[in-house]
Amino acid sequence: MATVAATLDELRATFTGSLLEPADPAYEEARRVHNAMIDRRPALIAQCRNTADIVDALHFARRAGMEVCVRGGGHNVAGRAVMDDALMIDLSPMRGIHVDRDAMTLRAQGGCLWAELNREAALHGLATTGGAISHTGVSGLTLGGGLGWLMAKHGLAADNVLAVELVTADGRVLDVTAGSDPDLFWALRGGGGNFGIAASIKFRLHPLPPVTGGLIAHPVERAGEMLRFYRDAAPTASDDLTVFAGLVHAPDGSGMKLAALIVFHTGPPDEAERELAPFKEWGPPVMVEVGPVPYPAFNTILDEAYPHGLRNYWLSSFTEGLPDGLIDTMVDRFLQVPSPMSGMVLEHFHGAVTRVGASDTAVPHRNEGFNLLLPSVWESAADDDANVAWTKDTFAAMKEFFTGGRWLNYLADDQGDDAIRGAYGANYERLVELKRRYDPENVFRANHNIAS
Ligand SMILES: Cc1cc2nc3c(=O)[nH]c(=O)nc-3n(C[C@H](O)[C@H](O)[C@H](O)COP(=O)(O)OP(=O)(O)OC[C@H]3O[C@@H](n4cnc5c(N)ncnc54)[C@H](O)[C@@H]3O)c2cc1C
Repeated sequence: MATVAATLDELRATFTGSLLEPADPAYEEARRVHNAMIDRRPALIAQCRNTADIVDALHFARRAGMEVCVRGGGHNVAGRAVMDDALMIDLSPMRGIHVDRDAMTLRAQGGCLWAELNREAALHGLATTGGAISHTGVSGLTLGGGLGWLMAKHGLAADNVLAVELVTADGRVLDVTAGSDPDLFWALRGGGGNFGIAASIKFRLHPLPPVTGGLIAHPVERAGEMLRFYRDAAPTASDDLTVFAGLVHAPDGSGMKLAALIVFHTGPPDEAERELAPFKEWGPPVMVEVGPVPYPAFNTILDEAYPHGLRNYWLSSFTEGLPDGLIDTMVDRFLQVPSPMSGMVLEHFHGAVTRVGASDTAVPHRNEGFNLLLPSVWESAADDDANVAWTKDTFAAMKEFFTGGRWLNYLADDQGDDAIRGAYGANYERLVELKRRYDPENVFRANHNIAS
């Protein structure tokens, strides 16, 4: 302990952010992440203000023999941003964003959220693919691939990365680009937090699209028919149109079950109207709230459905199409869901995201098709068992319809090696080789770990 105290004094001499120990009043708030089920206590939280703070904190941890975890936006449902007894390198004070309008690029520091990035980019009439919800962290989501509304038009968040300012396991600071280090650049786009700490990420931007989008709802009694319609209609979408389907509860708190489509179109209004017409007319729906909306505002429409501080357990898998058997199981299981905040979401992959080769980046999931997410959310710890059991049983009941491919960013922690393999797919062996080269001691292990 004397060594830790001595090196902590050394760290204090240069560190410009806050160093929080369990007795500090700000510690309790700082150790919390989005998912209230995660209740871990790091030995020390280093709230960094700049890249030099990250480097110093990492050196301190290594000298003191402490494990390291890294917090970006704190949204990882498995809670990988926080670890008992570790040094938590917390990037949340690092929120700087710089747009280069002429070059159509943006650099965001490691603690930024998508809402902040969208807002700055929109000031210049620009945007890039972010997550489907705006309060998620930019860096964790991007390093894990990053699916979102603009992926059919512009690929994943990771597909738009141009450079990563990276603090490596041995404390060096690199500006990793396709030219500077092709292997590391490849691994960072989908390898999660395994290869270092992203102090900032530089993205390619695109002209801010005109968005026509919103929600279309049907009575739950027609859920099976709606999902069959969706199965046939979604694959006809142009790159401008992305449609996700959900079995959800009404946002008014009534607990009413609904079948819903979320539509997002980036073409001119007349084209949007033409392509959206079949989706707006089928049924007919009980509610259509679709219209022109600025992209940053569209990115917030689901935010309130996933508030901070509730309990979460999520499972997901890519599916082998949407056969009747899967649709019927979805509807049957949804009718038994224990929480009025839980649901099921089908995310449609098509367009630009599927035109990138499966081994061009570390994200292997490049086929046209559907990712099925069971995002279970509830309020009380007393309901943990019922909600986790429903999610696991529902997932197990659908297993025969799954490809085995998993979306890395959604992985739960208790799904074993098959899930990790399913997330990294055929890229796993190359990732292991690169992990050995860039982080041989597995310093960065508080993530969906690639074992070196
Ligand atoms: C409400 C909600 C909505 C979501 N929507 C989407 C979505 O639309 N698309 C999608 O792909 N995923 C989505 N996710 C999943 C989300 O992308 C992942 O949970 C992601 O890890 C969140 O990033 P973060 O920075 O907020 O997370 P954190 O919990 O802070 O970190 C997650 C992991 O990334 C590592 N990490 C974070 N920042 C850095 C960094 N700068 N350098 C190195 N490692 C780092 C952490 O160590 C940890 O292992 C969603 C999650 C939630 C809860």
